[in-house]
Amino acid sequence: QITPAIFRTMMGAVAETIRREKDRLSQLDGVIGDGDHGITMDIGWTAVTAILYEKPADMTISEICETIAHAFLTAVGASSGPLYADAFRSAGAAVSGRLNLDGPAMAAWIKGMNDGILARGGAKVGDKTMVDAWAPASVAAATAASMGLDEAAVLQAARDAARAGMEQTAQLESCRGRSAKLGVRSVGHVDPGAASASAMLAAMAEAVD
Ligand code: ADP
Ligand code: MG
Ligand code: MG
Repeated sequence: QITPAIFRTMMGAVAETIRREKDRLSQLDGVIGDGDHGITMDIGWTAVTAILYEKPADMTISEICETIAHAFLTAVGASSGPLYADAFRSAGAAVSGRLNLDGPAMAAWIKGMNDGILARGGAKVGDKTMVDAWAPASVAAATAASMGLDEAAVLQAARDAARAGMEQTAQLESCRGRSAKLGVRSVGHVDPGAASASAMLAAMAEAVD
């Protein structure tokens, strides 16, 4: 089971991954957006890292998610700031009252992330956004949990589905965010928000492996 301490380690691993992928994410955004997605995500995750060191060690996973949400809202000006703020708030609420995360709770957390993004941004699957990674991840996680798989396997299923969903965004025409202005010219390019979502879930899965 994922304890609050392991969850902190996972969030630290995500921050490291985003830092490493910063240039690649900004390059993807440079093709169909304004070229800052790596920078905005790195700003958010750097703020999160500071919080993870400062805040008391006895915080629950739900409380950690609440502070991550606050960090994204205050540190990140781009559209991904409020989207991830609501994602973490929703995911934290989905696991409130739980000390550790087992398979079903991990799946509930991932669904919470997706629900928060949907509620804030109003995007649908197929709009060529981060939802095209988080939504299939949420479905795959629920399926894995319903088969009785543990939290590590649930995360792996989510990671694989997010990666496939991210790759498929290259075939889609953007209907949301800055890239929507490009219309059909956005086809052929991966969505940066889907790419960072896939990277986040990969880092989380690797951290519990
Ligand atoms: P900005 O577009 O403000 O520069 P970022 O570059 O940080 O923000 O993030 C861009 C990403 O945000 C897009 O690639 C897309 O995945 C995601 N995005 C934009 N609008 C929405 C929305 N309404 N719902 C979900 N995701 C969105
Ligand atoms: Mg951008
Ligand atoms: Mg921007």
